[in-house]
Amino acid sequence: MRRDLVVGNWKMKINQQSAQKLVDEIIAGMPDIDADLAVCPPYLYIPEVSQRLANTSIGLGAQNVATHLEGAYTGEISALMLKDFNCKYAIVGHSERRANYADTDVTVAQRFKQAIDADIIPILAIGELLEQREQGITFDIVAKQLNAVIDFAGIESFQHAVIAYEPVWAIGTGLTASAEQAQEVHLFIRQLLADKNQQIAENIQIIYGGSVKPQNAEALFAMPDIDGALVGGDSLNADSFLKIYSSFQ
Ligand code: 13P
Repeated sequence: MRRDLVVGNWKMKINQQSAQKLVDEIIAGMPDIDADLAVCPPYLYIPEVSQRLANTSIGLGAQNVATHLEGAYTGEISALMLKDFNCKYAIVGHSERRANYADTDVTVAQRFKQAIDADIIPILAIGELLEQREQGITFDIVAKQLNAVIDFAGIESFQHAVIAYEPVWAIGTGLTASAEQAQEVHLFIRQLLADKNQQIAENIQIIYGGSVKPQNAEALFAMPDIDGALVGGDSLNADSFLKIYSSFQ
């Protein structure tokens, strides 16, 4: 039976003081629910958020990870550096990085593999643009993004990975995919994996991202192949974030 998971992606929308306050509020308000919760602060705040999360069940994640293990890569943060601060997760392939920082299927696969090799759980973000949905090629896009990583890192590595389906048109726009629209893609992703390894497909957490809010979380989480959420905007407010986390039934 899969565990449910809610992850907060704080993006570059927080400062040091508000990060401390937010994490303390999340710890204080954390309900006793049998599901996983994690937060992904900007790199700089990882050390102090890590300290605050010690002795809690809340997981820590990074928003990205370098494509290489070490070397002359100015400005990059390696998986081992993240491991030093107890990062359990690293988001890879977020659409904002694909769109603004030239991340490609190749570099996303490299990041994914770096996380796996360091014993960090990659949260692989995939999803289509609005025009791709309108062209009816959502499944092709999602399959291409996913297959690139499977081919590079191997299907077995998905034993220790999370997939986040984030339709780009639903991110930060207030437009959520309907629970049925999201379920359809989550099922497609699970079937794609099942064709390669049934066990991995059944066990992997596939979470949804894109304007998830307390008002829509319950309907999304009620879907059989939606195992939680990757939350942006509403993860910056402890009350909203924990309401989303409390929406599992
Ligand atoms: P929003 O929840 O703000 O739409 O962001 C989703 C997201 O990009 C999470 O990674």
